This record gives sequence, structure tokens and C-alpha cells, in this order.
Amino acid sequence: MSSKPELVVSMDWGGTWIRAATVDANGQVRWQDRTPNPKDATQSQLVEAARSMLDRAIAQCGGEAQGVGIAVAGPVDAETGTLYEPPNLMAMDGVSLKSLWENDLGCPVYVGNDATLAALGEFHHGAGREAREQRGAAPNTLFYVTVSTGIGGGIVDRGRMFLGAGGLAGEVGHMTIDYTPSAPACLCGSRGCLEALASGTAIARIAQEKVAVPTGSTSALAAMIPSAITSEAVFEAAGAGDTLAQEIIEDAVNALGVGLANVLHLFNPDMVVLGGGVTVGLEKLGLISKIRDIMDARAMSRRHKDFVLSASRLGDSVGIIGAAAMVQQGLG
Ligand SMILES: [Zn+2]
Repeated sequence: MSSKPELVVSMDWGGTWIRAATVDANGQVRWQDRTPNPKDATQSQLVEAARSMLDRAIAQCGGEAQGVGIAVAGPVDAETGTLYEPPNLMAMDGVSLKSLWENDLGCPVYVGNDATLAALGEFHHGAGREAREQRGAAPNTLFYVTVSTGIGGGIVDRGRMFLGAGGLAGEVGHMTIDYTPSAPACLCGSRGCLEALASGTAIARIAQEKVAVPTGSTSALAAMIPSAITSEAVFEAAGAGDTLAQEIIEDAVNALGVGLANVLHLFNPDMVVLGGGVTVGLEKLGLISKIRDIMDARAMSRRHKDFVLSASRLGDSVGIIGAAAMVQQGLG
């Protein structure tokens, strides 16, 4: 059986799902499937589950892949493909998927951080491509931010991933926004991180804390069992005009605006792309322009304000498409 050279195999390995796909040179997903990570799994059980998804994708390419790209939720050493303390896949700490699978598969295996690869995917096949096609101008520097359970980020400069010395750059979620002693604790061990103020987890936690204090609030959130309050519930209440929910979202928007203004000054991006579930909620409430206003108000020069703020164009497939773009870049 002959292989199909235009297709590459990619995988997006998150804290919950393992997704595998075949993607063509135009960034179109041709086949994909997903399976949940086995619960409380050992390292070998996780590796086995991921490998079996990979083998299914390779079978879709006629049994022979030109290259495999893997996006992983967590810090990755780009040279060796080693995972470093991935918070949602801790059993995989110290494992190099490249050394594990490259010889066996007989093709190059590339491994990257999912947010960095999302930036690459948006640059080549998402918001960056739309800018090229519609305005005739590709971005030079694209900063991608995912605002979801956590907050992550990635940078692509002139088509190349900006990785940092150890491949760990772009962790915008752990930029300190609130340095006061009362700042909320973050999962990373620090306090007052953007992730602790504006992620979906933070929005839910803040709402739970607020309703736990009896104030006679008429908020719809106060009528819920605190542990059942999710960020989606807060967005829904805010959309229905609930003042408490709107205040919680407004605080998150302010934190995001401040964090992204810091990003403007550090990287001077001409495109900032927002992805993740919280972004979808913010879009529904028409709050993306509010974030833009805060960034503009804090930018130090007119040139720093010369950027496009866009929502992700690739949605859930952004990691898969970015991992494929990494392979195409590596093979090309
Ligand atoms: Zn943190």
C-alpha cells in the first residue's frame, strides 16, 4: 500500500482527551478521532492509549506516516520532546515521546507545547491565514492565548515558533497580575497569576467564594449549590443581567486586559488570538472589544496599538492543526 505524502499524522494530548488526526498540507483535518485518557492510569497505560490512537491515524495514511506531530498540554523540551511535569499528565513527567516512538515508527516525531502549536496553527491556517487572504497582509508576530480551565500562550514570529531557551516560553497564565498579599493562590505555587484571576476555574472559584458569604444577595448564583457553580453558569447569569455574575466577569476581563497589555509591551505582536472556552463566553457577551480597550489604554505607544485582536478560527482543532503544521515545517 502506498503512503499519501500530502497527509501528516498529528495528535493533541490534553488532560482529558487524546485526539489523533490526519491533516493535509492545507491544514484541513481529513480524519480524526479521540479517546479519553484512561483514569488514574500509570505511565505505560497512558503511553499505550496514546500509541493506539496514533496507530489508527497512521493506518489512515496507508500504514506509513511521513511524520508525526504531537501537541501536549504542558511544558515540553522542543529538542528532545521530553515532557516536564505536565500538570494534567503528571505520570508522563520526564518521558520523551520522540525517543519512545521515532525509531519504531520509522519517521520523524515532533513534540511541542499545545499553546505554542495553537499559535502555529492559527498563524498558518487560522486567523493569520484569514488576514493574508482578506487583507493581503500576514501577521509578523502572532501571540495566541487560550483562556480555558487554565491559561496558556504561544508565540509565532515570522512563521517560526518562539520557544525560549528550554522550550518553555509563553506561559502568560503565570504572569503576576495581583502582587498584593491577599492575591489568590495559583496551582503553579505562586499567587495572583492571570490564571488564578481569569481562567474558567478562577471564575467558578471566585463565584463560589462570593456566594459562600451570606449577604442576602438576589443573584441567581446565590440560589445555586456553591460547588455546582461553573464558569459556564457565571457566563449564563451574566448574560441574563445578573449583577454579581457581571462583576465577576468584569474583573476577569480587567485581568485579561492588563495581562495582554503586558504581552503587547514584551512581544509587540501585530496579531493576538484568543481561544478556549472562556473566550467563547466573552464573545457571546460582546466583551472582546472591552479587552481591546483596556490593552489600548495601557499601551505605551501608537505602534504598540497596531495589532489585530481576533478570536480563534480553528476552535477545538487548533492543537491538531498546529501539530501538523510543525511536521510540515520540519519536513519542508
Ligand atoms: Zn500561576
